[in-house]
Amino acid sequence: MELATFRFPDPELAGRRGVVMGYAVRHSGGVLLFDTGFGFGDKELDETYHPVTRRIEDALKDVGVAMDEVTAIVNCHLHVDHAGQNGAFPGVPIHVQPAERELARTPDHTIVDWIDAPGTMYRQSAGDHAIAPAMRILATPGHTAGHQSLVVETDGGTVVLAGQACYTVGEWAGDPDALDGRNGAPDQAAYDRSIEKLRALNPIRVHFGHDREAWVAGPATGADPATAPAPAILPGPC
Ligand SMILES: [Zn+2]
Ligand SMILES: [Zn+2]
Repeated sequence: MELATFRFPDPELAGRRGVVMGYAVRHSGGVLLFDTGFGFGDKELDETYHPVTRRIEDALKDVGVAMDEVTAIVNCHLHVDHAGQNGAFPGVPIHVQPAERELARTPDHTIVDWIDAPGTMYRQSAGDHAIAPAMRILATPGHTAGHQSLVVETDGGTVVLAGQACYTVGEWAGDPDALDGRNGAPDQAAYDRSIEKLRALNPIRVHFGHDREAWVAGPATGADPATAPAPAILPGPC
């Protein structure tokens, strides 16, 4: 689901707009929502990023998911563009790394009013762990110390929701001209290790938090995307 677009404030990217993606994973126990996008009404953020933000309720509706079907949330990290509408799901468990929850209390990491909106309920577990049958969280630090990704085992193979562990499909594929997250990452060594950790899963598809396009494995890896059954990750509008 495309949750928002925004204007890059960096001078070298002047005029370019970025995208914020979220993902809904339908499984036997309900729907898991991966990231909730920007929140609304922060003047400083609006002036810096000029976001055009969708209400998460509308984005979910477009892929046939009602708000009350969402049984769990995973935030890849707690920056404003990934966790801004957590408050729309009071009482729904939100899985985060303790390191990220701690960071969210430090100055300038995020907008605390959005993260700690009434009713938000955080479930903190450190490192790699299963959260439902066929779904597990992997710690993928680098962009932030508490970043995490989601791994979904589907009938067709392993699907990775990388979040911002890798910025774009081009960065994943090694395109030197692609928008990348490594250069700006506070811990580049961890960033590299996290991408390697995701590659080692031999995924058939990788989805990114800031790219509409997914990376799809070619036949060389053993998976044929043309014949593989479609995993139950709901497609976005783009
Ligand atoms: Zn971030
Ligand atoms: Zn982001």
